[in-house]
Amino acid sequence: MTTTDTFDLKAHIRGIPDFPKPGILFYDISTLLRHGPAWRAAMAKLAAAIRPHRPDLLAGIESRGFLVAAPLALELGLGFIMLRKPRKLPGLTIGLNYALEYGTDRIEMQADSVQNGQRVVILDDLLATGGTMAAGISLLRQAGAEVPCAAALIELTFLGGRSRLDVPFESLVAYD
Ligand code: AMP
Repeated sequence: MTTTDTFDLKAHIRGIPDFPKPGILFYDISTLLRHGPAWRAAMAKLAAAIRPHRPDLLAGIESRGFLVAAPLALELGLGFIMLRKPRKLPGLTIGLNYALEYGTDRIEMQADSVQNGQRVVILDDLLATGGTMAAGISLLRQAGAEVPCAAALIELTFLGGRSRLDVPFESLVAYD
C-alpha cells in the first residue's frame, strides 16, 4: 500500500446530525469506504501507527471495527479475531458486560482465540466515551492476551475516551 502525507481523511468522513437519535452527530465512514484510494491510504496510515506496537494478532469490535481490523490484518500479515455482540459466535465463548450511558451492553469472543501472552491490538472505527474499547481490552486480557495498543480511525476528544484506556491509543483524526 502507498500513502501520501497530503491525504485529508476528514474530507472523506461526513457527520450526520441526529443519528441514531436526536442530539448525536454520527461520524459516517461509508463515504471513506466507498472511495478506494482514500480507504487504502487510511489503512496504510493506521498500519504504520500500529506496527511499532509489534502485534501478533488484531481484534476488531463489531461491526465497523471489523472493517478496520480485517484489512489491517491483511496489510500486516496477521490474523484477525472478532469481538462480537452476544450470541453471535459459535463454540465456547467468554464475555463481558459493560455500562452504557443508559443500561448495559455485552461483548463476546471465542474462548480459544488467543494464546497466553499474545500481543493483540484492538481496533474500532471510532472512540467516543471509550467504554466499548475499555471493555474489549478487559475481555482480551481475560482471554490471556497482552494488549500493547488500541486504535481507531476517529477519536472524539471532547468525550475523553482515551483517558479510560490503560494502553497507548492511536487515531488518525480527532474531532473536538
Ligand atoms: P464508546 O463506547 O462511547 O467509545 O462508543 C464507541 C462505539 O460506538 C464505536 O463502536 C462507534 O462505532 C460507536 N459510536 C459512538 N459514537 C459515535 C458517533 N458519534 N459516530 C459514529 N459512531 C459512534
